[in-house]
Amino acid sequence: MSRILIVEDEPRVAAFIEKGLRSNGFATTVAEDGQAAIAMALDGSFDLLVLDLGLPHKGGLTVLEELRGQGMQAPIIILTARDDIQDKVTGFEQGADDYMTKPFRFEELLARIRARLRSALQPASGSPAEVALKHRNITLDLRTRRVQVGSKLLDLSAREFTLAETFLRHVGQVMSREQLLDHVWGYDYAPGSNIVDVYVGYLRKKLGSDLIETVRGMGYRMKAK
Ligand code: CA
Repeated sequence: MSRILIVEDEPRVAAFIEKGLRSNGFATTVAEDGQAAIAMALDGSFDLLVLDLGLPHKGGLTVLEELRGQGMQAPIIILTARDDIQDKVTGFEQGADDYMTKPFRFEELLARIRARLRSALQPASGSPAEVALKHRNITLDLRTRRVQVGSKLLDLSAREFTLAETFLRHVGQVMSREQLLDHVWGYDYAPGSNIVDVYVGYLRKKLGSDLIETVRGMGYRMKAK
């Protein structure tokens, strides 16, 4: 059974996450402030942390920095307030593995937790943890969330990075707008919005114009060659 430490000072949110995780077979513990979270995380053998950034006494980003500084390896998913882009960027720089923007659907958090636990579980003599995705001259560094095209380092927003990651995990496959919305935006978009098209435009500009082709009436595809 995987053990999850939920670091969240709002009782309603903590209870919501805890209830959902328990009914899906996880063991959970809640820490209500940053100081307690650090002690518990270093003490207990947790498989994953869900870490709210807005905490009393010691903020989530400080908690993150201290835990990584102490060598804690477990995946950490941060919870941020809507549109707090700088917090997300800082979070990734300090070793967060993923983030959720509040408010969120439990199913999305669950999917992310499962994905992080899967990639953290390494076979004894198998391949090392996946740290980068490569395609043509593009490299996505999954730890630092940085992107390299040829010898050039690029800054992508969190959404752009996730969209690029989705394409690189499905090279050669047609991805519909609905699939991309679901992967990248979750519930957090207006129906009928053209946000996918806008972001594909951003990626073409940043990664190369001939990389992502439009498949009329179907969606988009990252070209295999
Ligand atoms: Ca909070």
